[in-house]
Amino acid sequence: MIFRVFNKEELSALFDVLAENIIVGPVEKALDKDGIPLYSFELVRDYEELRLQYPSTKISAKKYFLPHNETLSSFSVDKEGWTKHVDYNIYKPLVFFGMHACDINALNKLDKVLLESVYPTPYYGSKRKNMFIVGVNCTPQSHCFCRDMGADTVQHGFDMFLTDLGDRYFVEVLSAEAFNYLDRINSREAVEVDHLDYMKRVKERIGKFTSKVDTTDLTKILDMEFDAEVWREWGEKCLSCGTCANVCPTCYCYGVDEQVDLDLKGAHKIKHLHSCNLLDFAEVAGGHNFRPESYIRLKYRYYHKHRGFVEAFEESLCVGCGRCGEACLADITVPEVIASVRGEG
Ligand code: SF4
Ligand code: SF4
Repeated sequence: MIFRVFNKEELSALFDVLAENIIVGPVEKALDKDGIPLYSFELVRDYEELRLQYPSTKISAKKYFLPHNETLSSFSVDKEGWTKHVDYNIYKPLVFFGMHACDINALNKLDKVLLESVYPTPYYGSKRKNMFIVGVNCTPQSHCFCRDMGADTVQHGFDMFLTDLGDRYFVEVLSAEAFNYLDRINSREAVEVDHLDYMKRVKERIGKFTSKVDTTDLTKILDMEFDAEVWREWGEKCLSCGTCANVCPTCYCYGVDEQVDLDLKGAHKIKHLHSCNLLDFAEVAGGHNFRPESYIRLKYRYYHKHRGFVEAFEESLCVGCGRCGEACLADITVPEVIASVRGEG
């Protein structure tokens, strides 16, 4: 890996050279009821809108690579016969300026199942390959448990990663494009003092994590506690609203609807992101529902993330961003659920 450094004042110059493309980044979207800013990944046209010091966004950036609704294919019929039209819905490369390590790790996990697995999806793949990612270091929030999930740092899946050293940024460079962009601004090779300051910053950050999830032997414990009463207790609280999957950077489950035009001359296959906590998630033709009770649906969400995915890919499908717990109206959080399954709650 190549390490470079540039002074803080050069950040706007980096934005300008990247702005040859469409930039998506964290911006202040609104204020909550206590007047605290809420952040969101949005298109950024003006450098002044970018908020690289954001704590975390309420919703992940997945609408740009896993949209909630996406037309997979369209069909039209005329006298000549029928025509199929497939569009991967990618128009221009997107630069993601300011992704935290957890969200880049989430993309790496999605890659495993949507790009490198038995059935790769070109809709996701085309968008993923047209992403240029500038990561940025963050300050752990009280709800973050990414460190326990091994997602507080990231080794790949980005082009460059910035760490704020106070007066300058330390840059990990992973792609030739990133190197070329840095060459167009006033940057230099990192030297020993930069390395030392970087390591100091890493150490300070580790000391700021407060939330704790014990993942020791978790897959085995989940196997043992499949019938535990705690699942019913959490299920009674759960509103089956699906918000947790909506905000989650790694939830990718979906359904496909087929819509036929009223004049019978056209049809469309439309993909919708789904949530395993919604009542109809496991309902099949004929009306039978394999998971009619909320506690079973909630349980399976945890088993998919912390059991099934680990078995398939040797890592969890959770990056510990804590968004689901922050958004849940029933105050259901991953650290509390896992602690209770372990008999610690
Ligand atoms: S766990 Fe919370 S956010 Fe998720 S479906 Fe249940 S109530 Fe909604
Ligand atoms: S399950 Fe919750 S904590 Fe884990 S990645 Fe999804 S939103 Fe983040």
